[in-house]
Amino acid sequence: MIKKFCYILLLMVFILCGCAKKEVVVNDQLSLIKEKDVLIVGVKVDTPPFGFVDKNNKNTGFDVELAKIIAEKILGDSKKLIFVPVNTSNRIMKLTSAEVDMVIATMSITPQRQIILDFSIPYHTAGQAIMVKSDSDVTSLLELENKKVIIVFGSTVEKELRSNVPNIKIVGYKSYPDAFAALKQGKADAMIADDTILMGFAINDPSVKILPKRYSKEPYAVAFRKDPMSQSLIDEVNAILMESLNNGKIKQLKDRYGIN
Ligand code: GLU
Repeated sequence: MIKKFCYILLLMVFILCGCAKKEVVVNDQLSLIKEKDVLIVGVKVDTPPFGFVDKNNKNTGFDVELAKIIAEKILGDSKKLIFVPVNTSNRIMKLTSAEVDMVIATMSITPQRQIILDFSIPYHTAGQAIMVKSDSDVTSLLELENKKVIIVFGSTVEKELRSNVPNIKIVGYKSYPDAFAALKQGKADAMIADDTILMGFAINDPSVKILPKRYSKEPYAVAFRKDPMSQSLIDEVNAILMESLNNGKIKQLKDRYGIN
């Protein structure tokens, strides 16, 4: 009888330990992704050369390729990916509402964003620049006082201009193609955005020019929900980024998409 009781007790301890262990595994973001066997990534669809849609309606760009490298390393298959379109103003919400596992979308690390999100190590550094029409006389930010400047809502540029250059008249758009089209249509005197994004639009377009000065440093990183359960996922992505920075894969991707 005692023997039987001990056996049942031992069995219960095993079952409970097993359950407790499983709970830790299930709550962990990296294990959850491995369990569902697919990585859901928020990417841009309007921001060449980082995130856009090609002629065959496929997501492409530097950030999209980076997502493929991460899926390959975590799940052993770069196709185990679902891309969810995000834009500059909704990407934080898509992450905090758990619609996506991570966001790879030209997103700069900033102290304000770090209050609500976690970031990987940076994989690229851009800088804010001014784009004007080729025949424009504007040569600097100072000359844009009391003039109209196009920005994209939710970007670091919007925040900086509103707090540091109050005399500029901001004309905001939701997407980069709309913002670029507005500049070309003469709806403002300039457009300010990250240089590498502006270059994606200015390439092969002689009607616009990018001025040489850079007004900020924009460290692009992968963004995660701020949650202790994200830590193992962040560590894994950081290890993948470190490896890809060291073995030249990121450099190769930059060359492929004309990013410098
Ligand atoms: N890197 C800037 C930001 O995170 C601008 C790029 C973008 O709009 O995604 O806000």
